[in-house]
Amino acid sequence: MPTVTRFAPSPTGWLHLGHAYAALFAAKQARQNDGHFLIRLEDIDGTRSRPEYETALFEDLAWLGLSWEKPVRRQSDHTQDYRGALDQLEALGLLYPCFCTRREIQEEIARAGQAPHGPDGALYPGTCRHRSIAERKDLIASGQAYALRLDVGKAAALAGRELHWEDAARGPQVATPAIFGDVVLARKDTPASYHLAVVVDDARQGITLVTRGEDLFEATHLHRLLQELLKLPVPRWHHHRLITDENGKRLAKRDDARSLRTLRDEGWSVDDVLQKLEL
Ligand code: GLU
Repeated sequence: MPTVTRFAPSPTGWLHLGHAYAALFAAKQARQNDGHFLIRLEDIDGTRSRPEYETALFEDLAWLGLSWEKPVRRQSDHTQDYRGALDQLEALGLLYPCFCTRREIQEEIARAGQAPHGPDGALYPGTCRHRSIAERKDLIASGQAYALRLDVGKAAALAGRELHWEDAARGPQVATPAIFGDVVLARKDTPASYHLAVVVDDARQGITLVTRGEDLFEATHLHRLLQELLKLPVPRWHHHRLITDENGKRLAKRDDARSLRTLRDEGWSVDDVLQKLEL
């Protein structure tokens, strides 16, 4: 089977050196294996995505010398796919509506005194998991906004066996999806959370090797469970190093991480970028 990789940026800011590394890394894995390199626009968060960032990211990737196969998958064109996945999980009895606001969750955690923590902080205390069906119906009927959470304990029990996955850098892994607690898989204004969208999209695009930064290593434990529940093919993963600034801090769009376009305007060549990234 040919290797199929992808680069999946969100058009919510200018690309920086960290994105350049991720894109070049994915393309290289495909090239070395006579495979295919795809792009996916993670624009499901309509409030932050902008067309000018989208145009710019294609320009930046072309400047880096990359080419990719068409068509590019755009998440916002596929909300039905995410709905379908949610329906599947719902039919398995694995989702529940959560009406808690962020503040209520924090208060609940503070009241409990001590809360288990996962890679993304304190775990959801399960408040809405315990609501009766009648209570849920009433709250929905009253028009209160809610998110859909995965009952991860039930989900792992339904999977019924230990799940495994393989990281090219770190080797075989046993999946521990419960580290995230009952994650949100959809919200009123977002048809799918990152975790749900990524497994659906990777399957739809036929991705065989998911390459991405080490910061998402833990998330893969959960993605593996979602793939099992949704009966999706299981790719391999390669989590790569993150590009950091002079202080060792990871580059992020929201910090003033210097964008590829700024570097270009300052006279950087593609070779300068490759050298800086040690590629
Ligand atoms: N849009 C995600 C990011 O930029 C992609 C994550 C992934 O490759 O799974 O972090």
